[in-house]
Amino acid sequence: MYKSVIIGTGPAGLTAAIYLARANLKPLIIEGPEPGGQLTTTTDVENFPGFPEGILGPQLMDNMRKQAERFGAEFRTGWVNKADLSRRPFTLSVEGLGEIQAETVIVSTGASAKYLGIPGERENVGRGVSTCATCDGFFFRNKKIIVVGGGDSAMEEANFLTRFASEVVLVHRRNELRASKIMQDRARANEKITWALNRTPLEVVAGESGVTGLKVKDNETGREEIIETDGVFVAIGHTPNTGFLEGQLTADEQGYLLVNPGTTETNIPGVFACGDVQDNRYRQAISAAGTGCMAALDCERFLEATELEAVVR
Ligand code: NAP
Repeated sequence: MYKSVIIGTGPAGLTAAIYLARANLKPLIIEGPEPGGQLTTTTDVENFPGFPEGILGPQLMDNMRKQAERFGAEFRTGWVNKADLSRRPFTLSVEGLGEIQAETVIVSTGASAKYLGIPGERENVGRGVSTCATCDGFFFRNKKIIVVGGGDSAMEEANFLTRFASEVVLVHRRNELRASKIMQDRARANEKITWALNRTPLEVVAGESGVTGLKVKDNETGREEIIETDGVFVAIGHTPNTGFLEGQLTADEQGYLLVNPGTTETNIPGVFACGDVQDNRYRQAISAAGTGCMAALDCERFLEATELEAVVR
């Protein structure tokens, strides 16, 4: 039985771990198959405050993990298959660890960027393929970039990337964009953005020094061509990692967990959510870390209040 179990080890989960461990609550942190979360798939992180020279994503996450361990946080590797949140203590079924009981649970399982699933894509992540313009755009100064997608994210990323890139080609599989009119208008008004609509991406082409092109098919003519580029930003949406919750926590229509405004409280008292799993808007390491701190403080207060209640009874 643990007072608090944290599921997920991105910046949100690890920050919650640091706070709870320092409060002497000896949290258990369950690490999934991608310990450290999305930051471990990037290289330099230059916008996390406190590192004037920048820091490598994996290093930053390793530092946070060590900081939590220093105060007594316990880390175990496992995959949470199922969570019974119907009564406290909550029960988590964890592959590799069995059943774990917890008085409180912090869900910080993040959201995973969707990939196209085409050849050359995964193996070139960090070598020209990216799913995060804010993280990696800076490295494409005066370069030509492709953004794939037709939604608001793609418009936003394309616009953002024109700050650095010499040209941004927007590749979308249909003629119509899904993005809101205002976002489309903004992108269309941007002279650095060119359009390759009705094109299905087939393969990321790369050489020794990274990405050199994106092979696409023109859906009207069936003709295939390689659009030359230094980088491919895939902006086709994210999926919050909530499958194991089986709908027990209230979520929006895209599956992001809903929390009481200004807190990390979910619809179930004693269960808190922080980081990208409840944030479809900012999705930054520092904002995730901030909500991780909030979740730990909310959790501490909840435990204090329930212990007090037990004493009064
Ligand atoms: P989205 O609206 O679901 O759009 C995803 C886009 O990627 C669609 O155009 C889709 O094509 C394309 N796509 C999906 N799978 C693909 C595949 N396998 N191959 C090629 N293309 C594929 O996702 P999003 O743009 O991330 O937006 C998610 C939500 O966040 C939306 O509600 C959006 O309004 C919101 N958002 C708002 C802002 C803002 O207001 N500033 C910024 C970002 C996101 P199809 O159109 O053909 O399906």
